[in-house]
Formats: sequence, structure tokens, C-alpha cells
Amino acid sequence: MELVTLRFYEELNDFLRAECRKRPFEHPFQPTQSIKHLIEGLGVPHTEVEIILANGVSVGFDYLPRNGDRISIYPMFERVDITPLLRLRDKPLRQPCFLADAHLGKLARYLRLMGFDTLFFNDAGDRRLVEISVDERRILLTRDRDLLMHRAITHGCFIHTLDTKAQVSELFNRLDLYALVAPFTRCMMCNSTLDQAAKEEIATELPKRVAELYTEFWRCGNCAKIYWKGSHYKQLAGFVRTLVAADDNE
Ligand SMILES: [Zn+2]
Repeated sequence: MELVTLRFYEELNDFLRAECRKRPFEHPFQPTQSIKHLIEGLGVPHTEVEIILANGVSVGFDYLPRNGDRISIYPMFERVDITPLLRLRDKPLRQPCFLADAHLGKLARYLRLMGFDTLFFNDAGDRRLVEISVDERRILLTRDRDLLMHRAITHGCFIHTLDTKAQVSELFNRLDLYALVAPFTRCMMCNSTLDQAAKEEIATELPKRVAELYTEFWRCGNCAKIYWKGSHYKQLAGFVRTLVAADDNE
């Protein structure tokens, strides 16, 4: 029987059976199986893998393991310079845009509030999600690892946590989104862009207290929802400050 020794690093261990986590383990394989096939067979979606080292040399997903190979598998680390190594896919887009699956609606709204172009559908099937992600070069956000194992998907992120704020923090760390936050640029309801609106133009649509307290307003070009820096904004701004401060202290 042909055997390789595999070692997975960091959060990739979350996908493995307990006995394979955080240590090297031997694994049988067929000589015609690519390393990508082997990795996904163990439950780790290829979108989560950034670097593969076979006997210390970086290799691609099509590498065919040989008997006795020692293979190390690392997750995405956007924040570490790994230029001497072979990345398994194109660099992430400068201005990343997202596609959230049906279970991540709250995360999608948070991302929009922070200015990130994020599509979200309640009712799109897996096939449609794969199509949109590929056609529009959107990073697919999901907690469904089978979806990420679809061979057409190139940019995806498995979301490990359940709490929305923890999800935002996870994504910010993985993709280094801190510098790209732009509040009041995108509608949290429909993802369209917002325009600044003069108070006198929208005065009749505002609750009385809001009209008294605020001077700056934005309106969605698509669904006409009006935004101002009310309590929701203050909460969000506070949250973003905590994220950025945690980042600076690293
Ligand atoms: Zn809108």
C-alpha cells in the first residue's frame, strides 16, 4: 500500500477527524490521485488551502503524491508574505466582493453596512451560487464545505464561527479587509450604492425625531431606503473600532 504523511495547519484542522488534527499522520492513496483529491477526501475544501509543501517544496493541486512523501498543508494567510512560495490561485481581488449563502444573511448585511459588495439570496440553489461566484468573481461565503469542494469554485471562504460579529472578525483577518471599510456607501437591504441626500429633499419621509437630530443623510438609488448616523451606526462604528484596534495590537 502506498502511504503519505500529511500534516494540516491552523484552522484546516477543524475539518479533520479528531485523530488527524494538529499532528502528522499516515494516509493511504492511489498513485493516480492528485493531492487536491486526497485533501478533499479528508473533508478539507480546496478553497481553504493556500500552500502545499511536498518534502519541503511547494507544489500545485495537481501534484501526484509518491510513496513516503511528507506533505504539509497550510490555510490562506493573506497577511503573511509568502511570495517565495507558489500560491494555489490568483491573488485576491483588490476590492473583494462576496456572495453569501442562504444561512449567512446577517453577515451579508453587516458586510454591506461596511461598504462591501455582497450578494445574498434566500432561495438560490448550490448550482446557481457556484455559477454566480465564478461568473462575477465573487468570494463565496458559506458554512457548507461540500459547496466549496465544487471544482469550479476558485475563491471561497468557509466561515468557521456562528456568531455574526465573530464571522466578520474571522473574514477581516483572513482577507485583511480593515483598510477597505467604507460605511454609508452601500444599502444593507439591497446591496445597491448609496448617494448623499439633501435633508430638505427627504424631510417629509423622516421620523420627526430623526429630522430634529440629524443633518447628514444617504439614500439608496435602488430601493430608496434612507440612512443616517443613528444608534445602529454608532454600534457598527464601535464594533469596527474594536476590530481595527485588535488588529493594531497584534
Ligand atoms: Zn437599497
